[in-house]
Amino acid sequence: MAKIALLNIGSELLKGRTLNTNSAWIGEKLKEYGWTVEETLVIHDEADSIKRGLSNLMSRNDAIIITGGLGPTKDDITKPVLMEIFGGEMVRDEETDSRIRKWYEMRQRQINDFILLQALVPSSCTVMTNLVGTAPGMRFDRGGIPVYSLPGVPQEMRHLMEHKVIPDLQKRFPVSQLWLEVVKIFGFPESEVAIRMQTLQPRFNPGVQVAYLPTDGQLKLELSLAEGQGRQEDLIAARQMMEEEFAPWWFTSDDRSLEEVLGEELKKLGKTLALAESATGGALASRITSVSGASKYFLGSMVTYSNQAKCVALGLTEEFIETHGVVSEQVALAMAEGTRERLKADFGIGITGTAQVYPNDPDYGQPVIWFGVATPAGSFTRKGIYHQDRASNIRHACNTAMFLALRELRK
Ligand code: ATP
Ligand code: MG
Repeated sequence: MAKIALLNIGSELLKGRTLNTNSAWIGEKLKEYGWTVEETLVIHDEADSIKRGLSNLMSRNDAIIITGGLGPTKDDITKPVLMEIFGGEMVRDEETDSRIRKWYEMRQRQINDFILLQALVPSSCTVMTNLVGTAPGMRFDRGGIPVYSLPGVPQEMRHLMEHKVIPDLQKRFPVSQLWLEVVKIFGFPESEVAIRMQTLQPRFNPGVQVAYLPTDGQLKLELSLAEGQGRQEDLIAARQMMEEEFAPWWFTSDDRSLEEVLGEELKKLGKTLALAESATGGALASRITSVSGASKYFLGSMVTYSNQAKCVALGLTEEFIETHGVVSEQVALAMAEGTRERLKADFGIGITGTAQVYPNDPDYGQPVIWFGVATPAGSFTRKGIYHQDRASNIRHACNTAMFLALRELRK
């Protein structure tokens, strides 16, 4: 198996100002094609670090992918360093030059010499045309080891990976097919999945690998099987066994998110949804509207954070809230029914609770969130108890609400 290493250049990555999403994306992408990243090195925008890092990685890997350090700013020294290592002189790449000029013309922005510096590349490289940005990608070769240098801007990096780097890697390091299948479930703890897998997995082809990827109450189970270890049908059979085993928690067997799956289900059935959010503060509405075409089924959300808002917008009364407590199943239900009636939706969801623990306040214990779901066939409630930080609890609660609604729709 070819050893592929990453070199992420950027002081901002080391200082934690920018999350190194490029390394995560490349790792996942290469896996899709059957390679794995052997190692990743993150370094400062400094000539010595780049020289040392690259020479280390080249001494023990078969291919190197560099990201970052190609913008027009003065801290970017990658190109001169690469020229020092691989030789040649700085030359103007005419194709890139005219592409940058056109780019600025089209956007009616003033071009300057500083920007045109990006068209300068070491003569020792092969330019990889960047159609989504101004900085070109470059490929260098030494002793059969390709070194790809890509811009740090994630969108440009992804474009060059997909159109230039991966096709080139495929020519150099052919791999046997790796089949992938995905099963996504919600609300079933990873540890309990592991227990069930102990009896389930022996029924799979022994070559089937299972990876567990949990996020905010969801669990993505990724199954893979390499050609030579079995047939694709073996992997599909394993996936089907998992779907059966985890049927009550299953929501999809592809890469779609809960908001996409819920949206498609609503669209398919021609049903509409309305929300009344307290604890999630509109976060659920934001998730649902992140899906294009949401206007077909999503009517709106009342973000009723105060008791007053719950009364004015949803028709609750102060006495009702006082009697049951604002974090109660009765209030969640009244919110769900209130928004469903007022917005004339098929389904209404109400969410009320506390998203985090206040250690110094004895009135608040564990974060508890109540969900009310109002449907044409009746209403019900669910209680969720959360254990993470505020932001994670809110994301988890949004997932719970969407999963509850989805399960009702599929009944
Ligand atoms: P800038 O002028 O913004 O400093 P630059 O000239 O340093 O950019 P790059 O190093 O290619 O050019 O990075 C461009 C942008 O891409 C950076 O502003 C950074 O936010 C982002 N970026 C760089 N490396 C990564 C990475 N590994 N993961 C995610 N984003 C990254
Ligand atoms: Mg940079």
